[in-house]
Amino acid sequence: MKKILALPLIALLFWSCSTNPLTGRQSLALVSNAQLFPQAFAQYNQVLGESEVDKTSADAKMINNVGQRIKYAAEKFYSEIGQGSALQGYEWEFTLIKNDAVNAWCMPGGKVAFYSGILPVCKDETGVAVVMGHEVAHALAGHSAEQVSNAMVAQGVMLGGNVAISNDEWRNVFNQLYPVGAQLGMLSYGRNMELDADEAGLYLMAMAGYNPQEAIPFWQRMQQASGGQAPPEFLSTHPSPGNRISQINSIMPKAMEYYNASPYKGR
Ligand SMILES: [Zn+2]
Repeated sequence: MKKILALPLIALLFWSCSTNPLTGRQSLALVSNAQLFPQAFAQYNQVLGESEVDKTSADAKMINNVGQRIKYAAEKFYSEIGQGSALQGYEWEFTLIKNDAVNAWCMPGGKVAFYSGILPVCKDETGVAVVMGHEVAHALAGHSAEQVSNAMVAQGVMLGGNVAISNDEWRNVFNQLYPVGAQLGMLSYGRNMELDADEAGLYLMAMAGYNPQEAIPFWQRMQQASGGQAPPEFLSTHPSPGNRISQINSIMPKAMEYYNASPYKGR
């Protein structure tokens, strides 16, 4: 009896994996984009409404420009591998918020925010592209859906062959992960998701014509910004800069291939 009840769950877990085409990493996706995105869009607008948004400065325009370039590069890649439909429903937005925190984040469906506090660490447009590639990669890889899915499994929402998850059930989980209001810093991802976003983000910045080698000095600056003590917010939920830099070095040859083939290189 127990076995029979468990079957739908196993089948669901089996069929509900999604693969990041940039890295090959698999993740659990029990919540669809169609379910997740409207909730995330509403939450993003609420956060912006409670924040000091900068839409007009040169920095704000540059951040949007970098975001658009990386978005185009991602769309080109997905369409070339025959997965263009995976990007349906995304409503990309790249917003600068006046806030001293050294942070940036994304919400499902392509809603990205940069805090002005991270700009000195980025230093220039290519540094912004390191962070932007990372955030866009989180959005594309469905890391939020993975967090929600993992939490649903952990909380037993999925137990007892409960295949048809009600909207209330998954929304409760979503609201726990994304507390309502301007909870700065938003969702923290696991270490594996961070490294996955680093790798995919490095390829995306390279495809968009930004030199991926600049990611290494960026993470060194980020390490310095932490002063060896309480790390800035962007680091506190992330792998250590040393781990990131060694991974980035190991995948640099592949990133450089994307960079050298990029039609946007040198723009
Ligand atoms: Zn991240």
